[in-house]
Amino acid sequence: MKKGMIACMLIMMAICAGCGGNGTVDANEVKQIYVSHLPTAKEKADIYVEPIEGLPDDFIRGMDVSTVIVEEESGVTYRDENGNVRDLFEILADAGVNYIRVRVWNNPYDADGNGYGGGNCDVEKAAEIGRRAAEHGMKLLVDFHYSDFWADPNKQYAPKAWARKRIDDKEALIAEFTEEALNTILNAGADVRMVQIGNEINKGVCGTYEEADVMKLLSSASGAVRKVASASGREIEVAVHYTGVDDTAMTLKRAETLKNYNVDYDIFGISYYSYWHGSFENMSKVLKEISAKYGKKTCILETAYPFTSEDGDANGNSVGSGGVEGYPDTVQAQAKNFRDVAFYANEAGALGVFYWEGAWVPVGSERESNEKIWEKYGSGWASSYSVDYDPKDAGQYYGGCAWDNQAMFDFTGKAMPSLNVFKWLRYGTEAPLQVMEFKDVYIESGIGVPLDMPKSIDVYYNDPSVTDGMEVTWDEDSLAAVDVNVADTYEIKGVTADGSSVTATVKVMNVNYVKNPGFDEADVSMWKVVDNGAGDATDVQKKAADALSGDNAFHFYSTSAIDFTVEQEITIEAGGEYAAVANIQGGDVGSSAEIYLYVICGDQTYVSDPAKLSGWKQWQKLKIDAVPVEAGETVKVGMAVKAAAKGWGTMDDFEFYGLAR
Ligand code: CA
Repeated sequence: MKKGMIACMLIMMAICAGCGGNGTVDANEVKQIYVSHLPTAKEKADIYVEPIEGLPDDFIRGMDVSTVIVEEESGVTYRDENGNVRDLFEILADAGVNYIRVRVWNNPYDADGNGYGGGNCDVEKAAEIGRRAAEHGMKLLVDFHYSDFWADPNKQYAPKAWARKRIDDKEALIAEFTEEALNTILNAGADVRMVQIGNEINKGVCGTYEEADVMKLLSSASGAVRKVASASGREIEVAVHYTGVDDTAMTLKRAETLKNYNVDYDIFGISYYSYWHGSFENMSKVLKEISAKYGKKTCILETAYPFTSEDGDANGNSVGSGGVEGYPDTVQAQAKNFRDVAFYANEAGALGVFYWEGAWVPVGSERESNEKIWEKYGSGWASSYSVDYDPKDAGQYYGGCAWDNQAMFDFTGKAMPSLNVFKWLRYGTEAPLQVMEFKDVYIESGIGVPLDMPKSIDVYYNDPSVTDGMEVTWDEDSLAAVDVNVADTYEIKGVTADGSSVTATVKVMNVNYVKNPGFDEADVSMWKVVDNGAGDATDVQKKAADALSGDNAFHFYSTSAIDFTVEQEITIEAGGEYAAVANIQGGDVGSSAEIYLYVICGDQTYVSDPAKLSGWKQWQKLKIDAVPVEAGETVKVGMAVKAAAKGWGTMDDFEFYGLAR
């Protein structure tokens, strides 16, 4: 309410200024013509959105709509959820979007003035988008690519006018362009609050790749933003933008490099697409570390997720299927994915999240008619005219929208429920419980062990607080096809209680029933040691050179005579024949040493051939075949060592597994 009232006052002031009689309204004045009303409590909805407790009111809920103008020119109309045709910015404001991002290319046209496509995103379009955003109460992030077309981790081509310029010329050019472009955008009435100096500049910026030179250009661009901010009396923050946050070390190194070169910036921004850039937790951890170590704000400048694996405009999509477990390609999962990105960004103290090109929808469904529209208006990802600038990629593979399955509008331009995720982030929704996806069933089954399939299957629900499994019936024919005596992988089909088809993967293999068999896990409590010597002979040793695998091995040495056993108890569920294995190396154990592997089962003890230790890294494999074990019986598997004083060695990688019958 409070927010709306302030906006109403602004409108009244603007009207009064108009009444004042001097006839001019400052071009920089933000004139809000539309005010949205956002929820202040949980709302009922078709999709579930888990609230993010304590999310700040000014958390950036951003959307990149760089293609909107050419989309409209191409005949696209946007409709709200009720099917009413409305201005895109009105629909976005109602959905809770509070920030718009727009990319700027210096000169995305060929010599004849034909646009390269991808929105033909020049400064004038950015200014127009910024004005419309401000009219709807939304701030603007200006994303300078410092290129005439797409700049990303693979491409950072210099603008045509800057080609072959020396670095000091480029420093002046980048400052001049930044200043002029920002002034144009501000003069249109945009509420610019953040400026990106380059887009995904992992390898460089505007055709400059040498580290020291790149840093000079960033400093120069940043200086220009500061100058415009100061001259216009505005608070505008400078953001750098990288991608590949899954490479933690490299991302931290980028922040370190910026610090080493004293680049003046406020926000360390990243792209984070969950299907490309690692776990949510890692993303959050890296951003938190950058904030703590370098005192910078952070922000997710791009994210997205598919609502379908279908294509809407007869031009294949960049990401056919999201493929992240728990996020199928559905409207619900698209919303959940964005909510979860926002949650983990907020955990890291980030400013917010921008969704990339959520309104880039098909201009039509037929390839032939679409091609004419893409060429004429630039609403595809690239037009044939880009051949002069990017002959190897865009100039060859130009076409339509590769992002329509990641928009938050359907293929006809109608808003989907997922678009409202922005306004629902803080208080969440109440929605019918829905199965999003069944968890993958993967079973490792011991050779010779009867197959024991689970009676229920775990589910990803739209409400993650619900953890009930769902009953499943496995197909008799595919179960009958499993031969538990042969190591192989099988697919078992099943039907769940709600009628869904699922598939389990069963791998029949030598399951090793020994726990922590190589001593590499910290908990070694399953291993029982009985030392009948001086009591100082054994330890778990961390030294890769003395281990058969991993870093750790069970080690022995004493200046006194050595006499110990090391063993663990294993309870076997399926009766049958089992085998035991252990590996040992060492020396100086004396001629009367007794060293062997044993299995104790009921009142029977089975032993291997004695080990003959012949020196460092001369590993010997001890084995006991065919120990009969009853179902439910507990066996002890261990090594016994009696050796002379100053004998030494290590043992590693125990095994106890079922045999085919
Ligand atoms: Ca497409």
